[in-house]
Amino acid sequence: MELGLAKTRLNHMTEASCIFCKIVSGDIAADKIAETANTLAFRDIAPLSKVHLLVIPKKHYKDVVELSESSPAVLGELMSQATKLAQEHTNGSFKLQFNTGSEAGQTIFHAHAHVLSDNSKDGS
Ligand code: AMP
Ligand code: ZN
Repeated sequence: MELGLAKTRLNHMTEASCIFCKIVSGDIAADKIAETANTLAFRDIAPLSKVHLLVIPKKHYKDVVELSESSPAVLGELMSQATKLAQEHTNGSFKLQFNTGSEAGQTIFHAHAHVLSDNSKDGS
């Protein structure tokens, strides 16, 4: 029981093999665009649309379900930041997406919101 609790706590801090944890720690470079106390935003390395941003919690949660159940306040902060950045980078038309589970296309098991749009603010 105690071991299980300790493991859960460890999961929520960092995972040694997690790419997004390494971006948070600075061990891997990323095109960072903004941060808040508990979130970090950067450009997707393989953009699927003109605007493709990722917003992640700084702590490790495997997906949005775990984030929502463990830290709803951080999820709220992440949603506020994602919609703020979407307003700043697009003309107001955008998609906000959480791929959850491998069958839904999740490839990195550190919760993240995709901000996707072909309607960039400056029209470029
Ligand atoms: P998902 O498929 O929802 O798990 O999304 C993971 C996203 O992370 C993909 O769109 C990848 O292109 C993106 N990605 C993977 N590695 C990096 C990286 N080092 N920096 C920025 N984005 C990345
Ligand atoms: Zn992680």
